Amino acid sequence: MADCIFCKIISGKIPCNKVYEDANTLAFLDAAPTSLGHTLVVSKNHYETFDEMKEIDVKSLAITAHKIAKAFKKISEGYNLIQNNKKVAGQVVPHVHFHIVPRKENDGIVWNRQYPKYSKEEMKEIADKISGKIK
Ligand code: AMP
Ligand code: ZN
Repeated sequence: MADCIFCKIISGKIPCNKVYEDANTLAFLDAAPTSLGHTLVVSKNHYETFDEMKEIDVKSLAITAHKIAKAFKKISEGYNLIQNNKKVAGQVVPHVHFHIVPRKENDGIVWNRQYPKYSKEEMKEIADKISGKIK
């Protein structure tokens, strides 16, 4: 999809902090992270919502989310796996994606999009760290 920001990331037109990539999926850091390491997992095929996806792409997306979750188990105390569909449900980017948000005790996260800022260096470091934990 020509005007889709995540399709532009997938095609390399827009940069990202890549965490993982295979033939069908890409995982990269959220540019406005809820916590350090907040990762988005996308299908390379464009669909707006989860229900619209072909089963084959659901499988690929779920397997990649599972890989990232296993990596998070090694670097965080817990995590949220979140997937929003349509504006009414909080979807801002209309290209289907999972959020994986690392959590720790008393991290104070409330879901209001008022999150801390991290430096480019911190973002690169955590992307590499997660990447290094993926089998
Ligand atoms: P959602 O509300 O589920 O559609 O989430 C969309 C997410 O995409 C938000 O958390 C944004 O911070 C994130 N986002 C938007 N543009 C970019 C980008 N260029 N690179 C990385 N993450 C982005
Ligand atoms: Zn797209």
